[in-house]
Amino acid sequence: MNASAPNQNELGAALKRWFGFDHFRPGQEAVVRDALAGRDLLAIMPTGGGKSLCFQLPALLKPGVMIVVSPLIALMQDQVRLLGEMGIAATFLNSTLSGAEASARSAALLRGDYKLLYLAPERLMLPEFREGLLMRLMASPGVSAITIDEAHCVSEWGHDFRPEYRQLGALREQLPDVPMFAFTATATQRVRGDIAAQLHLREPAMHLASFNRPNLYYAVRPKTQQTYTQLLALARDGGSGIVYCLSRRRVDELSAKLAADGVRVAPYHAGLDADTRADNQERFIRDDAQVIVATIAFGMGINKPDVRWVAHYDLPRTMEGYYQEAGRAGRDGEPSRCILFFGLGDIRTAEFLIAQKTHPETSLPLEQEQRVARQQLRQVLDYAESHECRRAVQLRYFGETFEGNCGACDNCLEPKVTEDWTLEAQQLLSCVARLAQRGERFGSAHVIDILRGSENQKLIDRGHQQLSTYGIGRARTLDEWRAVVRTLLHQGVLDETTDGYPVLRLTAASRDVLKGQRQIDVVPPPKRESAAERRAK
Ligand code: ADP
Ligand code: ZN
Repeated sequence: MNASAPNQNELGAALKRWFGFDHFRPGQEAVVRDALAGRDLLAIMPTGGGKSLCFQLPALLKPGVMIVVSPLIALMQDQVRLLGEMGIAATFLNSTLSGAEASARSAALLRGDYKLLYLAPERLMLPEFREGLLMRLMASPGVSAITIDEAHCVSEWGHDFRPEYRQLGALREQLPDVPMFAFTATATQRVRGDIAAQLHLREPAMHLASFNRPNLYYAVRPKTQQTYTQLLALARDGGSGIVYCLSRRRVDELSAKLAADGVRVAPYHAGLDADTRADNQERFIRDDAQVIVATIAFGMGINKPDVRWVAHYDLPRTMEGYYQEAGRAGRDGEPSRCILFFGLGDIRTAEFLIAQKTHPETSLPLEQEQRVARQQLRQVLDYAESHECRRAVQLRYFGETFEGNCGACDNCLEPKVTEDWTLEAQQLLSCVARLAQRGERFGSAHVIDILRGSENQKLIDRGHQQLSTYGIGRARTLDEWRAVVRTLLHQGVLDETTDGYPVLRLTAASRDVLKGQRQIDVVPPPKRESAAERRAK
């Protein structure tokens, strides 16, 4: 089979001829070569890495038609249109076509007029299709390969699970001689393993590109009264931007506010009807709307290469989700910014959303799903609260090692100023220890109340005024104590477990701090504006 493998010049010429590019991007050529060799393959490339070309070029160079499975009709239409503009014969079959149009396309496919056929998974798996058109295509002009785009949709561990993708595994048996190519930008190892297993890939050639996106700048900013102003400044700096929020209500509020401040903005969430959604998306792609404010329903497969910034107004649910959403910036390789706004209130909201879940979203039992969700939240917090290079934290999460000091994140460019608050840490830990001696466990709010000498009734009823740690922390504000708690949790010196509600516990590392063998450095929280100061503005 390899006898006909194209040499370097031939591949380069095909790249230039069909796509107009002079060079392959890192990793592309190796994938193309394996695809041409007829092996199954699993290619994991970050968004903007240039995945599409890796199967489109082989489709052009191999005899027959390639079937491309794609999860969204909009995505399919977009790709087919782009290919058409480049003079590449591609088409799709889906439910939006009239019967006559579908028959005409099927006839053209059988004549060998097309090199690529895009399909939704449910159409490909229909018995009528699998035993009908698919078999006839196999006979002539032949099926060069089946490409599964957005292959992470097969996995419940991914962020866009699609049950229809599960059935694709049956294709390996039906078409033993047709190579299968799975492509995804999903970075977690668990999902990668799941893809190969679920699709029954046969000794796939694995291609794993680095997930580092050097052109993206990452920063986390504290949520304060100035957050909206900072967002507005981002928008006014110019360039297309996406703002992600957790709830539809927040999307509506924020887009109304930005519009009132003169920003050309469009909202996007699942509560809007399909036409409005499609319309708003289209306006954003055409640059009629500069900014789109959206829930996470927005974005998969949106091919807008020149998004200059992505802001998260709320805490993302998973690191993977954050990476993907932020990664919609700068697909064209130009410098772009990813800003996460984060405040302690976000933690409460996230915990609340997990706790109040009543129906699992996956096939896991609810309790297990909640446990996974808490673990994911912990990872997001680790990122948000870290003083380390943001890139290093992200890439470590995806199993890559990165030395750090990337020169393009807030922590590398403006290292946080920390203060030695070991004493405060000891005060807090000993308060938790005293309570534990009495067989009691409380959440951080109550522990801070004790330290600050609060006179709230619950505290008095429990006799906590008698504790030796009562009132020893009056010198610090509530925000400062919260920063101490967050730092201790982040460093694993303190643990928070749920006991109906979250309660603090000591860990093995707490003792080192209590014995003065470990120093605790804290980034002091931003000073809160008092109501009087606000009024004075
Ligand atoms: P993704 O991996 O996110 O699906 P795409 O396939 O959409 O990425 O490619 C992202 C962008 O990079 C597109 O605008 C594409 O035209 C461009 N691109 C892909 N390969 C190359 C290349 N070898 N040289 C220059 N630009 C490329
Ligand atoms: Zn960095």
